[in-house]
Amino acid sequence: MKTIVILGVGVAAAPLIRQTMRNVVLKDKEYNLIVVAPTTHFHWPIAMPRVIVPGQLSEDKAMIDLRPIFKEYPSDQFEFVLGAASALDPTGNTVAVSLNDGGSRTINYHTLVVATGTSSKDNMPWKAMATTEQTKQRLHELQQQIENARTIAVVGGGQTGSETAGELGFEYSKQGRKEVYFIYNDRLPLAPPLMESVRKQTKTELEKLNVKLIPNTKVTAVEHSGGDTILTLTDAEGKVTTLTTQAYVPTTGGIPNSSFVPADLLDSDGFILQTKSLQVKGHDNIFVLGDVGSLEECKAGVADAQAVHLIKALPIYLNGGVMPTYTPSNKVMVGITLGRSRATGQFGSFKLFSFLIHYAKGRFLGTDYCHLIAAGKKTLMTTYEK
Ligand SMILES: Cc1cc2nc3c(=O)[nH]c(=O)nc-3n(C[C@H](O)[C@H](O)[C@H](O)COP(=O)(O)OP(=O)(O)OC[C@H]3O[C@@H](n4cnc5c(N)ncnc54)[C@H](O)[C@@H]3O)c2cc1C
Repeated sequence: MKTIVILGVGVAAAPLIRQTMRNVVLKDKEYNLIVVAPTTHFHWPIAMPRVIVPGQLSEDKAMIDLRPIFKEYPSDQFEFVLGAASALDPTGNTVAVSLNDGGSRTINYHTLVVATGTSSKDNMPWKAMATTEQTKQRLHELQQQIENARTIAVVGGGQTGSETAGELGFEYSKQGRKEVYFIYNDRLPLAPPLMESVRKQTKTELEKLNVKLIPNTKVTAVEHSGGDTILTLTDAEGKVTTLTTQAYVPTTGGIPNSSFVPADLLDSDGFILQTKSLQVKGHDNIFVLGDVGSLEECKAGVADAQAVHLIKALPIYLNGGVMPTYTPSNKVMVGITLGRSRATGQFGSFKLFSFLIHYAKGRFLGTDYCHLIAAGKKTLMTTYEK
């Protein structure tokens, strides 16, 4: 038996799982597929800036139970192991797994795909947390804090911060129901390669929602006192102030889920070094997809393109063919939702109209189709099954 192991059930892994079952495993009794992940649910980060706003977008639309989907596959050729990869031995072709029920297991693989993504910093549920129960618990706690808050502070000026400030601004500060602060350590929200005009538009749209912008400022200490969180803010000149909030919403980036991978296979930031064919150098039977890989930035569009490539390339590899080269896109393609009616974005060096991004992304934040990605029937851009 040749065992294919896929680590992760996220944006990159989900379509690969189903399409590998269809293209390889179900056609050949010689193969079986083992999927390993600590989460029972597929997690759709793109919707989370709206899901955290109480009463806006049901969490069930962004967190989809995979167990009924996986039940479709025959048990002699498919297994879902609920646990986290804890040690990879690329020479012995084994991966050790810490099972959610407390046990451990070592799995031998013929071919391994690592698609373990990143986790959000500061214990936030933007990405899947250690288990689905933990993600839901943290989400509910955050929603409760937002519901009860007079003052909300979104910290971190990237896309997640800008979109979250937009959602909270639309729901609360626009009508004067709560104060929403947005704190970031630059002149403008977002960063290059996004153009100055897109960054300025983001600022203008947030100001229209009465979001209070605090640029060029870092949060240098966080203290809790009863229901309040007291943030120490230090600006570019070193001036120190404090802000008291009842809902502290950090959006400070992610950490690659690669602690189980030997250090010599990682770059200096902990991302797994990928070759141009998405393999690990010196270990041709290990493939790396999506956020956890070193080749490109952490974007669903990248996870999508890499998954589409491997869905085609994996059968070639398994049949002993020459691996095709993956070509990363060098075009900037970003849509930024700013509340429930406005947006901005960039395609190449063009700033996109608000209504276009609002129509394509802002109305549903992908929750109208992400269940199909969870089921593996499509990626963001490619449909395999209707
Ligand atoms: C709030 C937010 C909004 C975003 N919006 C956009 C957007 O608008 N456009 C865009 O292009 N990108 C966006 N992104 C980025 C996008 O979500 C990621 O690039 C995408 O999720 C990457 O997919 P992935 O499958 O590589 O990783 P992930 O989605 O992180 O999935 C990783 C999977 O691995 C599992 N896992 C983790 N550790 C282990 C382990 N040790 N063993 C086994 N399994 C493990 C996890 O449970 C999960 O199933 C956004 C991100 C966030 C946080």
